[in-house]
Amino acid sequence: MTIELYGSSILREVCDPIEDFGSDMLMSLMRGMKDAMNSKEGAGLAAPQVGFNERMFVLNEQLAGGKCDTVICNPVLLRDMGKDVQQEGCLSVPGFFENVERSRNIEFEYFTAEGIQKQVFVSGFLARCIQHEMDHLDGKLFVDYLNKDRQKKIEKAMRKLRG
Ligand SMILES: [Zn+2]
Repeated sequence: MTIELYGSSILREVCDPIEDFGSDMLMSLMRGMKDAMNSKEGAGLAAPQVGFNERMFVLNEQLAGGKCDTVICNPVLLRDMGKDVQQEGCLSVPGFFENVERSRNIEFEYFTAEGIQKQVFVSGFLARCIQHEMDHLDGKLFVDYLNKDRQKKIEKAMRKLRG
């Protein structure tokens, strides 16, 4: 699987809900995404980052820590509490780590790859990653939270990288 880089139009699309829970296609997409994420030592990876316009993302197993599943489908934010500013990066924007304000705690619901609905409360870096991945499903990137100068600098570097 190739990871789409900042500037690729699929990263700006609003993704479609998953309907084929438990299907071979979903399971193989999920496995491919986990391999791609782990090979780059990423905390998470969303389907549009590998060219699939689907509301699904995977999370690093250690990061999820049993607090939620490592495959998240059709997530919906229910509530958020507190604010927190920390550095974050993205496999589609390699080499850049920037301070981004996010909610410190979130409650959200989602479906597992098998189509089981769950509702969980998470905090800290896990909550940050989930918010970052949920943004991907709506065509939003962490770069969008930065000031214009910083955005221009990243755009320029990514144009060079994409050749
Ligand atoms: Zn990302």
